[in-house]
Amino acid sequence: MRMKNDVVILGGGYGGAMAAARLARHGVPVTLVDARDALVERIRLHQVAAGDDVPPIPYARLFRNLPVTFIRARVETIDRERKLINGTIPYDKLVYALGSINAPFARIGNARSVAVIGAGLTGIETASEIAERHPDVKVTLVDAGTIGRNLSANAQRHLRAWFAAHDVTLIENERVPNVGRASARPPGGRAADAVLWCTSFALSPIAKEAGLHVNARGQIVVDDHLRSSDPDIYAIGDAADFRGRRMSCAIALPMGAYIADALAGATGDPFRFGFAIQCISLGRNDGIVQFVHADDSPKERCLTGRPAAWIKELICRYTIVSLRLESRGVHYRWPKTEAA
Ligand SMILES: Cc1cc2nc3c(=O)[nH]c(=O)nc-3n(C[C@H](O)[C@H](O)[C@H](O)COP(=O)(O)OP(=O)(O)OC[C@H]3O[C@@H](n4cnc5c(N)ncnc54)[C@H](O)[C@@H]3O)c2cc1C
Repeated sequence: MRMKNDVVILGGGYGGAMAAARLARHGVPVTLVDARDALVERIRLHQVAAGDDVPPIPYARLFRNLPVTFIRARVETIDRERKLINGTIPYDKLVYALGSINAPFARIGNARSVAVIGAGLTGIETASEIAERHPDVKVTLVDAGTIGRNLSANAQRHLRAWFAAHDVTLIENERVPNVGRASARPPGGRAADAVLWCTSFALSPIAKEAGLHVNARGQIVVDDHLRSSDPDIYAIGDAADFRGRRMSCAIALPMGAYIADALAGATGDPFRFGFAIQCISLGRNDGIVQFVHADDSPKERCLTGRPAAWIKELICRYTIVSLRLESRGVHYRWPKTEAA
């Protein structure tokens, strides 16, 4: 039977899980739909690629004792006229939090040489994790531009010194032909047993197919209240284009918290958010904490070495701790300094 004021959340990643926990804490019944029955810690997938075991966190445990109905289903369609997901799940208000995809994020297995294509934050973390854990594996990091170009001069120096010390070959200003995302063909003519593509986060076509206003990448364009072009559909996390901000867990969690407050009537203010740092792990014992302006551009100041590795690890743990605390009624807070 269709209930009134049903809020349905599509996707239980960082953004969707935060929205579900907080809405439930506000006393709003919520339905969460995800293809898996557990939250995948996506910010640790580079560790998984290097061989770590990072078990997903079951939603049943995360939302224990909360009014969150979980439906395990792969979302295929949104029928906006009849307000139905996959033709069967009704909604009154919909939060679209299906994230993005970077595939394949497989384990390197027995590969003796690995090429990581794309040296954004994910590519840097992936190459360094593998290089540290498997010193006998030849790691090459390839990018179409300059590696570390979005970091301060000090951070760039540290990054290059770390890669040199760990025998990682850097190939810059080389665009790797699209030979198929899962292909193990040599990038730029250099052979590799395994190729990990970290070039960009791809978006599901579902939003576009539903007729929502999306940008060229397929992200739902949202206004200052995270509303899509459909007044009953909101978008958060990687799936949302909020003023072109970087896809990150750092903004997905605040968006989830904000949308819960907005749907529960706890705020009528616009969403406000400013970046403060970028944290990059270089294996388990080193890292870079790059201080940034609210618009994510780097300041000169950065922390490196073991202290930076600790901060990064603390932040990774804090994402899950904050979801658990939210489920227990301790509200998550975030930096609201806006970019100029
Ligand atoms: C290796 C790596 C390291 C990263 N490190 C950082 C970092 O240090 N800091 C940072 O801020 N960000 C980091 N990121 C980016 C961060 O992981 C993403 O920005 C973040 O996960 C986005 O959260 P989300 O809730 O939008 O989506 P996700 O966390 O991707 O969750 C999406 C959910 O939707 C579900 N889903 C998707 N499609 C469907 C479907 N059709 N039907 C049903 N369910 C579906 C998925 O199962 C998933 O549960 C990193 C990413 C990677 C890959």
